[in-house]
Amino acid sequence: MRRITIFGATGSIGQNTLDLIDRDRDAYQVVALTGGQNIDQLAKDARHFNAELAVTADPNRLAELREALSGSGVDAAAGPDALIEAAARPADWVMSSIVGSAGLAPGLRALENGAALALANKESMVCAGALMLRTAKTHGGTILPVDSEHSAVFQALIGEDLDAVERVVITASGGAFRDWPLEDLAKATPEQAATHPNWDMGQRITIDSASMFNKALELIETKEFFQIDPAKIEAVVHPESMIHALVGFRDGALMAHVGPPDMRHAIGFALHYPDRKTLPVERLDLVALGQLTFRPADEVRWPALRLARDVMAAGGLSGAVFNAAKERALDGFLDRRIGFQQIAEVVEEVLSRVSAQPGHIDAPITLDNVMHADHLARVRADEIMNK
Ligand code: NAD
Ligand code: MG
Repeated sequence: MRRITIFGATGSIGQNTLDLIDRDRDAYQVVALTGGQNIDQLAKDARHFNAELAVTADPNRLAELREALSGSGVDAAAGPDALIEAAARPADWVMSSIVGSAGLAPGLRALENGAALALANKESMVCAGALMLRTAKTHGGTILPVDSEHSAVFQALIGEDLDAVERVVITASGGAFRDWPLEDLAKATPEQAATHPNWDMGQRITIDSASMFNKALELIETKEFFQIDPAKIEAVVHPESMIHALVGFRDGALMAHVGPPDMRHAIGFALHYPDRKTLPVERLDLVALGQLTFRPADEVRWPALRLARDVMAAGGLSGAVFNAAKERALDGFLDRRIGFQQIAEVVEEVLSRVSAQPGHIDAPITLDNVMHADHLARVRADEIMNK
């Protein structure tokens, strides 16, 4: 039996992962499941899958979790340290699907155990790509991309020589506001931003899709994960979300990964890698689909894409600053302290302030330095939003 741990088990990726595990229960022993505020879901799944341990990120919810698990034989724990302890329990395969930079430390700890880390938490790569790759290499672990675009690129690269890659094209749906007149964006509400045309995902990534910060993070993730020159990485708007990414080679071949928008493909690919097993995803009817369309990724409508280029050029800890500033600015938008278009303005201002302070962006990429840069960026974002 394969030992499996899921960080962020109660979220959208976590629940899709459990759906796949549930279809082949005897093949897996669930070691740990973690969640946040959704104690009922966490306890229900921990019981159903007979997990060894359930952890909530919130220390104030421990008593409630204990109560919900009483008599089940599942251990309960809470708080950031408990997440690290869960990551330290031996497991063969670990899903990293916490949202935000909070997912970095548990994922790193799992890599230190030599686990195969299925990485949905793109923030880990954006904040600390070099550290993630180094840790995997040192401890004999592997990192398998779960972001659909990166799973697509990974699959297109199987058996290929990275030197032969001319371009990587990451597709973007364009999110909730892709067809809105630019002048209406100032009035966009969190509720409007949190509806996605094609994908069913957590609230934060859905709003990041509308602002294209999700795609910005993914461009940086592409650079970090595949160690590809940023000049070779492009974004294109593809409203149907059927092609997840394309890899172009020096002989002119362009390999596309095509499929209906269902994260269980990328999760299942990472779960069974290097095998391909049958997955419960819809098969594409090309004739019914009829056509696929593409539009330019407009950097005026979506300034996040321009900022991603700056971050890729600056390197170092600028990804950690960029991500944390975005997380805080998104909180500000959700709390209605700032408007939709101010999200990018806050992030740009934080990047410029932190970059102007020597010793931050160019500090070595260690967990402490990343978390320090993350903290500093949040403080700067709050200063800017409270002004
Ligand atoms: P979600 O909001 O649905 O779930 C997030 C999970 O993380 C929940 O279990 C929540 O309890 C937990 N969590 C939240 N804050 C936490 C904290 N501070 N500490 C510990 N746990 C915390 O999010 P999601 O849509 O499942 O996305 C998860 C990750 O996967 C994100 O990094 C996202 O960018 C990435 N991703 C998601 C999708 C998707 O289809 N949902 C696709 C690609 C990548
Ligand atoms: Mg994606």
